[in-house]
Amino acid sequence: MRMQLCTWPEVEGYLKKSSGIIMPIGSTEQHGPTGFIGTDALCPELIADGIAAKLGAQKNAVMIAPTINVGMAQHHLGFPGSMALRPTTLIAVIVDCVNSLARHGFDHFFFINGHGGNTPTMQAAFSEIYAARSFHADGAGLPSVRCDFANWWKIKSVKKLADELFGEGEGFHATPSEVALTYYGYPEDGARVHQKTLEPRLAPLGPIYDAEDYRRRFPDGRIGSDPTLATPDIGKRLLEAAVEELGNDYEAFLKQD
Ligand SMILES: [Zn+2]
Repeated sequence: MRMQLCTWPEVEGYLKKSSGIIMPIGSTEQHGPTGFIGTDALCPELIADGIAAKLGAQKNAVMIAPTINVGMAQHHLGFPGSMALRPTTLIAVIVDCVNSLARHGFDHFFFINGHGGNTPTMQAAFSEIYAARSFHADGAGLPSVRCDFANWWKIKSVKKLADELFGEGEGFHATPSEVALTYYGYPEDGARVHQKTLEPRLAPLGPIYDAEDYRRRFPDGRIGSDPTLATPDIGKRLLEAAVEELGNDYEAFLKQD
């Protein structure tokens, strides 16, 4: 269940059965001419909802935190609609979100990440969380916590499908995988933005520096990808694979002491 749709007595009741929580984290950034600005946040949300539906039926319900919607995406700021937190800001956001929830008794935080640019910052945030406890023999009075994350597009089952279905068209940004997943989740909006062809079919490849440089190298926002291959049906398959694999990973993570 989504914590935003719970009452506080419901959260209190949940904590008597489980101290785990799924933390969707994404970004608000351009995803080429055919992908939603919210792609990187929408994908983890859809996967988290799927895991809650799958595990909720047989076990205690799964709690899902509000999505961290804005990420470390400075390089996308050359395109309208993109928003970014600098790394230090995102570290502070993650640390404060975890510590808020730790105060109530949550201690296993499983981040499902939708944006590659968040990865180093998330790892730094986890180190800050542990460091605040480690510098004092008594943990500075802070509850002990465990944080873990998964980049959903990199997990084994999803990568296998993407390789089979898209080959080199998968690329690195505004990929058909992430676009397909959101088209499945939001079919009417997907039908509105989908295009049959893009020119060039495969977007250019190259390094990432600042926003001006990015827009010059990657004029329509894509990197190496052909998101015209995205369909809602493929999105469904990718979502089912991600829910299965990450649901298992989440359960294994909860069993860690
Ligand atoms: Zn993305």
